[in-house]
Formats: sequence, structure tokens, C-alpha cells
Amino acid sequence: MQMLPYHPTPVEELHDPVFDQAGVRVLIKREDLNNPLVPGNKWWKLKYNLTEAIRGKFNTLLTFGGAYSNHLLATAAAARRLGFNSIGIVRGEEVLPLNRVLQQARQYSMALHYVSRTEYRNKHEPSFIEKLHRKFGDFYLIPEGGTNRLAVRGVAEFATALPPDFDYLCCAVGTGGTLAGLINGLRGQKEVVGFVVLKGATSLNEKISSFLDNPYNNWWLNHNWHHGGFAKMPAELTAFIQTFYRRHGFRPDGVYMAKLLRGVYGEIKTGTFKKGSTVLVLHSGGIN
Ligand SMILES: *Cc1c(COP(=O)(O)O)cnc(C)c1O
Repeated sequence: MQMLPYHPTPVEELHDPVFDQAGVRVLIKREDLNNPLVPGNKWWKLKYNLTEAIRGKFNTLLTFGGAYSNHLLATAAAARRLGFNSIGIVRGEEVLPLNRVLQQARQYSMALHYVSRTEYRNKHEPSFIEKLHRKFGDFYLIPEGGTNRLAVRGVAEFATALPPDFDYLCCAVGTGGTLAGLINGLRGQKEVVGFVVLKGATSLNEKISSFLDNPYNNWWLNHNWHHGGFAKMPAELTAFIQTFYRRHGFRPDGVYMAKLLRGVYGEIKTGTFKKGSTVLVLHSGGIN
């Protein structure tokens, strides 16, 4: 069975006097390098969904997302590579010219279907899915953000294979599927910290808990670094990206990685991580 290629990724150390002063070591797992077409956490979230779609002999993948959804693009790329048709149900009205994410999704032959924000809220309703089936026929459905049990299983497999020399694992959180997978994969070991990139995401705790194999309590969500909300990019964050790029040689994306890394810097300065500890940051990918 054909799957997306996987390239092994390194763990690198980030050096900064700020970390030395706090006595904290910072490592970054460069999972953004695992596949150029479907990078980062999206590779792992799609892994078992793609396996299932292939096993079930589906011809078409259908999924949901906002206009800036990395998941929509990852699904389009994976579908193209593995020979599926793909349909993206996009929240809101079409805005032309298409932004880069949707333009690229189109280049991977994803059919974009726009639904109003009101209608989009019904995306889990059987009647709405029925309507989509009447319109598009048979398809393998991947939920918004790609988060489902199979996605969580894929990420857990990734976490199981992490080198063990760290105390904290830090990860950017959108829908929470990736964080749930990390928690399951670590089976109660280490401390897992999710940096939430959405504002007012009050239901995340519950959602993540619903995906856990056990009621683990070695994890928590940090809501202090969303910078105003999803895809919001205040000047302070843009400046951080520049400074980070100059120091470390790679440019974090503004939606996920910049907020995570800014948050890690901020929390190190205020002493959130114990002196003498090692913080492992997951580089989950992102679009620059
Ligand atoms: C999609 C994405 C996330 C969020 O993953 P969730 O499982 O939805 O929480 C984090 N980082 C990057 C780079 C992403 O593209």
C-alpha cells in the first residue's frame, strides 16, 4: 500500500542567554522536516486516516476548514500524492483572489465548496453530512482540523518514539488533536504543555480529555500567548519572528510556531519551567 514518505527528523538545541540565565535547556524536535508536501503534525494526523481511506477503497477525501487552514492544504496535498480526489468545505464566503493556502489547495486539485458560517456550525450534524453525500456522492470524511481518533493514534505513535531526555513537552494547540496524541503517547510521563493559538477556546480541555486513553493529569493548557486570536499577527509577534530567525536560522510561521516559541520564551523568563530542566518544543510545521 502506498503511503506518504516519512523522513526521520532531528532534535536540535536552541541556544540563547535567556535560557542559560534561567538554567533551562531548550530542544526542538524538527518534525516540520518529515515530509515537504504534508509536513509536521499533519503527516501524523493523516497517517491512519489515509490508511483507512485506502483500505476502504474510497476515491475521495472530504474535509472542513477555515480559509487559513493548514489542515485543508495538507489534505489536498496528501490526496493529490496518493491519487484521491479531494473536496474542501470552506467556512464563509469565497474571497477573491484566493489566499495562498486556498490557492495552493486548488493547485492540488481540491474542489472548494463554500458554506456560510451558520451552516458550517452544523458540520457534525448527520443531516448536513447527508446533504454533502447527496451533492458529492461517496467520500471518506476527515473532520475539521483533521482531529479524530485515528489522528490522535498517529500522533501518539510519534510521541512514543521521542528520545526520553526531556522534562516538558511544549506544543501549539489548535483543535487539540495533536496534544491529545502526545499525552496518550507519553502515557503519564513528563509534563505536556499546550500553547493555545485561539482566543477564548474554553471547550478545549474537555475536547482533549475526550480523546485520552486514561485520565492523565500531567498536562495543562496555556492561554496566555494567542496574541489576540487565531491568525492574528500583532507587530510584537512579527518582531519576534525576525529576532528568532536571525538567532536560530529558521522562520517560525505566524499562526502556530511563533506563538508557541514566543510563549516558551515568556514562560522561561517567568520561571514556569524548573531550573535544571529540559524543555522539548515540538516543531509541528506551519506555512510561511
Ligand atoms: C494544524 C497545526 C497545529 C494544530 O494542531 P491541532 O491538532 O489542531 O491542535 C499546530 N501546529 C501546526 C504547525 C499546525 O499546522
